[in-house]
Amino acid sequence: MTKRAYNFNAGPAALPLEVLQQAQQEFVDFKGIGMSIMEISHRSKEYEQVNGETQQLLLELLGLPSGYKVLFLQGGASTQFAMIPMNLLTADKVGAYVMTGSWAEKAYQEAQLFGETFLAASSNESGPLNIPALSDIRVPDNAAYLHVTSNETIAGTQFHEFPDTGSVPLIGDMSSDILSRSFDASKFAMIYAGAQKNLGPSGVTVVVAREDFLKDSPKHVPTMLRYSTHIKNDSLYNTPPAYSVYIVNLVLKWIKANGGLSVMEQRNIEKTALVYDTIDNSGGFYEGLATKDSRSIMNITFKLQSEELEKAFIKESEANGFVGLKGHRSVGHLRASTYNAVPYESCKALADFMADFQKRNG
Ligand SMILES: *Cc1c(COP(=O)(O)O)cnc(C)c1O
Repeated sequence: MTKRAYNFNAGPAALPLEVLQQAQQEFVDFKGIGMSIMEISHRSKEYEQVNGETQQLLLELLGLPSGYKVLFLQGGASTQFAMIPMNLLTADKVGAYVMTGSWAEKAYQEAQLFGETFLAASSNESGPLNIPALSDIRVPDNAAYLHVTSNETIAGTQFHEFPDTGSVPLIGDMSSDILSRSFDASKFAMIYAGAQKNLGPSGVTVVVAREDFLKDSPKHVPTMLRYSTHIKNDSLYNTPPAYSVYIVNLVLKWIKANGGLSVMEQRNIEKTALVYDTIDNSGGFYEGLATKDSRSIMNITFKLQSEELEKAFIKESEANGFVGLKGHRSVGHLRASTYNAVPYESCKALADFMADFQKRNG
């Protein structure tokens, strides 16, 4: 048996074992062509098949109607923070942002380099981390878009419903929770995600958008940074990150074979309940960092009552085969990332370990 860690890494993160095994099988000889998928042209019929099928699978899993396009771009979600205002924030408009944490902040800061911005709503300034109520989100009439970060990977908070924005296009950074649950994707004009959390390996950023939303850009936008360039060329304008797209293809097939988004959601709720219940039943030994109504089913953030205990927790967890439980360097404390590919057994083992650690240290 292959040794597999209890992998709670935040990103790059766990991939389904079946996907890794299939990739291993096809590594040297992709579908009998005597070459790896990495060794062939992105203009070959084999790669075009991977490109088209991956686009199709993603639209299908998201349940999107026609009119949406899928792009495989480079530069990470961080490049999307710039491409969005560069392409969409014109002089007479404002870019509206919901401020929910570190990632929303980065997107918002980047937009300020290009034009006028508007703070549509913010999380609590102090106290437990939360997602603002939908009723508190204000969207100006001249908004080019409203940008939300559906899951704040560092804070461990997640939107449970999305705002109705009327005629204002809704954009979602779903880097850390795309395909983790069913939701009405057609509410969004554009969704984007760095693949390395819940979709595949690093190196590819997925953009799913209404074609009409991305068709115009200001003249000065460089060719590679114009959405329309990639749309017109079916995401094959220049050499794509072919191996990363290929792994995303396998991950999407894995999700489909396992029952799609509603099954992913059910599993993620069950997995995270094991850990959240352990936190809530610990009599204050463990404390969640997010308010209960804003908790994420992808990133569980929590703390212990002293830094010393947290250090001991990390050390012992590592000795017991757990990986990635240290909180993000900007906030400290503890975090367990429970993406689709993290099995129930890993979460069960973590909950058991947490209970045992409390018994010995409580
Ligand atoms: C990780 C992350 C990003 C940054 O992704 P890169 O691909 O590293 O640029 C952006 N937004 C969210 C919500 C993330 O979790």
